[in-house]
Amino acid sequence: MEGYGSSRAAPLLRGHTRTVNAEETRQQLEQMLREIDSTAAIIEAEGAGESSELSHVDQHPGDTASELTDADQQNAILDNSAEHRIEIEAALARLEDGSYGTCVDCGKQIPAARLDVRPEAARCVEDQAKAEAAAG
Ligand SMILES: [Zn+2]
Repeated sequence: MEGYGSSRAAPLLRGHTRTVNAEETRQQLEQMLREIDSTAAIIEAEGAGESSELSHVDQHPGDTASELTDADQQNAILDNSAEHRIEIEAALARLEDGSYGTCVDCGKQIPAARLDVRPEAARCVEDQAKAEAAAG
C-alpha cells in the first residue's frame, strides 16, 4: 500500500525544517473525504451491478480477492472506505487540537515526507508497522 523506502531519496529538500501547513492539510483531508464519499455513493448506487468503473481502487490480485464475488468486493471497498474515513476524520480532529503531525503512539514528529504521502497518518512509519502487525 505505502511506498516505504521511496522517501529515502529526497532530492528536493529545500530547508531543514518544514512545518505542516494546517489549512492546506485540512483541505487535502476534506478532499479525500469527498472522494471516499463519491466512491461509496457510486458503489451503493450500482449495488452488486455490472460496471467495473471502480477498478482504479487498489486491489491486490492474487490471494483471497479472486474468490470474492463482486458484491463481496464492493462491501470490502466500502469497509475500507469507512475505515479510511475514520482515519481522515481523526486527522482533522488532530489538526483542530494541535497534535497533528506527531505520532499518536510515541509522540515523535511524523516526517513531512510521510505526511505528504499520507496526510491522515496517525503514526510514524515504525509504529504504523507495529500497529499493522498487531492487527494481523
Ligand atoms: Zn511513533
